Formats: sequence, C-alpha cells, structure tokens
Amino acid sequence: MTAWEPVIGLEVHAQLLTRTKAFCGCSTAYGAPPNTQVCPVCLGLPGALPVLNGEAVRMAVRTALALSCTIKPHSRFARKNYFYPDLPKGYQISQYDEPFSERGHLVIEGEGGERRIGITRVHMEEDAGKNVHGASVSVVDLNRAGVPLVEIVGEPDLRSATEAAEYLRVLRDVLVFIGVNDGNLEEGSFRCDANVSIRPAGAKELGTRVELKNINSFRFVERAIAHEINRQTALVEGGGRVVQETRGWKEGEGTSYSLRSKEEAQDYRYFPDPDLPPLVLDAMFVEEVRASLPELPRDKRDRFVREMGLTPQAAGVLTGHPRVAAFFEEAATLHGQPARVANFVQSEVLRDVTTHGLAATIPVTARQVAGLLRLVDAGTISGKQAKEVYAKIVGSDRMPEDVVAELGMQQVSDASAIEEVCRRVVEQNPKQAEQLRAGKTALLGFFVGQVMKETKGSANPQLVNDVLRRLLGI
Ligand SMILES: [Zn+2]
Repeated sequence: MTAWEPVIGLEVHAQLLTRTKAFCGCSTAYGAPPNTQVCPVCLGLPGALPVLNGEAVRMAVRTALALSCTIKPHSRFARKNYFYPDLPKGYQISQYDEPFSERGHLVIEGEGGERRIGITRVHMEEDAGKNVHGASVSVVDLNRAGVPLVEIVGEPDLRSATEAAEYLRVLRDVLVFIGVNDGNLEEGSFRCDANVSIRPAGAKELGTRVELKNINSFRFVERAIAHEINRQTALVEGGGRVVQETRGWKEGEGTSYSLRSKEEAQDYRYFPDPDLPPLVLDAMFVEEVRASLPELPRDKRDRFVREMGLTPQAAGVLTGHPRVAAFFEEAATLHGQPARVANFVQSEVLRDVTTHGLAATIPVTARQVAGLLRLVDAGTISGKQAKEVYAKIVGSDRMPEDVVAELGMQQVSDASAIEEVCRRVVEQNPKQAEQLRAGKTALLGFFVGQVMKETKGSANPQLVNDVLRRLLGI
C-alpha cells in the first residue's frame, strides 16, 4: 500500500474596496440594477482607453506588504486573451510575467503546529462581468466588469483540506484587518480556486494537478478539496491516471464534475497591454504604504496573550473582526482588567454582535461595559446581576449605574443574612454536606449555586464561599 501525500496550492481573487473600478470611474457598489455601472472603457468599446486607479494600486501594495512580499519597482500589465460573453474586450487586463510583487508568506496554525505557507506573488487584475442563465435566455451583467482585484497565488505548500481552509481563513482576516477587502464570500468579493494533486509520500516530484474552480465558502473548500484528494487516490489506486483539468464543485451533491481540460498559459496569448504604461512604484511610496499598515491579526492575538494575559483561545475569538478587537481593547483599557473584560465580552456581548464584511454592529459601548464591570468590582452588584443589567443597557445609551439605581439592585454583602441562607441550604442537603466533609470538595460549587439561587444571584459570591467553608468545616 502506498501512502499518498496531498499537495494543495490556493489562488485567491480578492476584490479591492475602491469606490471606482480599476481603469475607469464607474462605481463598484454591489447590488445595483444590471448594467447601470458601465461606461465605454469597461464595456470595451473601440477607442476607449484605460486609466489606472491609484487607490487600487495603493490597496494592492498594502496587500502584498501585509503578506511579506517583495515589491518590484517596475511591473507591467498584460492582456490575457480569451472569448467569453462576460468579457466584452475579448481580453482581461492582468499581470503576467512582470507582477508588482513576489515571494511572500503567511503563517498559519497547521495540524503539527505553526506552518509558513509560501506566497508566489500578488498581482493586480480586473474582474469580468457576470453571466446570468435563465430558463430560455442567458443575459450578461457588466457592473462587475473592470472591478479591481488582487490575485494572491499561493505556493503548493498545503498538505490537507483542513490546512487549506485554515490558510484561507487567516488570509481573509489579514485582508479584512488591513481594510482592502470585505471578506464576503457570499457576494463573491473573496473567491478561491484550489490546485490539488497527490504524490507518493516522500516523493519530490509533483503529481498531475486538478484545478477546482470558485469554491465559495470555507466549509465547501474543505469538503471540495477532501473529496478531490479521495477521488484522485481512488483513481490512482485503481490503476487509473489523473488528467489535468478544471473541475467545478456541486455542493448539494457533494461531488465535483469536469468543466474543461486545463488551459496552459500559452492558450491565453499574453502580451503587454499597449494602452497602459509600465507601473512604476517608487521606494518612498512603498515605505509610506508600509508605515500605514495596522497591526495584523496574528500580532494582535499574540499581544493580547503576552501583554493582557488572555488565553490564546480568547485572544483568537476577540481578534476575529477588527471592530470587535477595537471594542475589546477600548473596554479593557477603560476597565483595567483585560481578562475579566474578555470573559464578559465573550460570554455576553458577542451574542449580540453582527458583522457584515468590514462593518460590525455592537449594540453597547466600551464605556457601558467597563462601567458595568466596575459596579461588580465595587461589590455594588453581583456577577449574576450584571447580566440582568447588561440585558437592560443593550441597544440603549443608558449607563449601568442608572439601571442599577432604578431597579433598586444591590448585592447582599450582609454577613448575617448570607449566613442564614447558607445554614438553611446545608441543612436541606445533608447527604451532599456529608460527602463534602468527607473530601468531595467539588461539591462546594453545588452549595454556592444553591445559595445564589435562593438569593436570586444577589449574594456576594466571595462571602458565600467563606461562610460555607466555615459552616462545612473545610
Ligand atoms: Zn466603466
């Protein structure tokens, strides 16, 4: 039996969040009526000339720098020729043998620890339009034609479907954090093709690869690649041979199907676009873009662990979206105890947060949350009461202390009142009390829970603990 090693490389197309298209002034807004955001340039009318969008260049350079690529001072746009109804010019403007960046990498958590995945290059190109197929006719919407993209070509360094999905997630987070892409797979602004092959474990040579096209969700990526690995393995072990081709993925059936035999680069007859001058990026511009890069999600996560004492898990959750991370940091700074703020944000606030691309709706402010936790610190309310107060301030601009005053809430810190309840609870549960005294100390939590229930969560938990330990003699 031969053990097979999967070899996977991903090509990601990410739409740059410019207001206008790559080579004309048309809007890039999503969801407009078909063919309302077009002009002679993006319609490919004869004589219309492209002019490169400076903001698209800035965002593309930002992307390449965030992925540790080398920026080349001199690059060129090329025409990639093919015929398709959604491509009115008959060619796509892309970069071919002279891309503006190369040799980067992305660090992911692989199955055996940290892994550095190579990035061959990041280059700029324009998007095509969209064919919409009806029952009897097909129509073309060219609103998307000419929208600026970066293509991020990854090295074939990934070794499993799970790793591929993780790479894609990490990459998406980086693009969202640096503000160049909204990470929206559903609206097609972040798309992925996967090159998959297998080879005998330990072999150096690459097997024949199959390209899986446009897989549009993280779950599908993992499923589609795993399916392709299994398909190729079964094929080879059955004495067959993998043919180089492009396959599509049918999520409903969990299977792939052959689209076409794979084109080679020469099929596209690339040549430098004579309408566009070479792209020259001077060192000062590149350094200016580098200096403007924000902290990347991985660095942020490490810092939350190192400087704030968060668990890696909590740090991972809180850096899942730039707005959530900023909210948490603000609340942690205002309150002063990051780990406590992290717990509260994870257990309560995140439930009410919705994100859409770069936007996030967080229905409380960092000030409200910090204020609420300070009331707990001061012993004014208990942790349980804090949840009730939180429910009242969510979606409003009310401050927690006002809600506490209005509800007449107060934490019971009166030792004699607490002792009375504790005694009653111990008397009502003689069996558990006996087991606890006999050494089953985990039962203390049961008693604390009973007392909190009796006092409707208003008892000071530290006091309850102390009194119970005394009464139970532990
Ligand atoms: Zn246009």
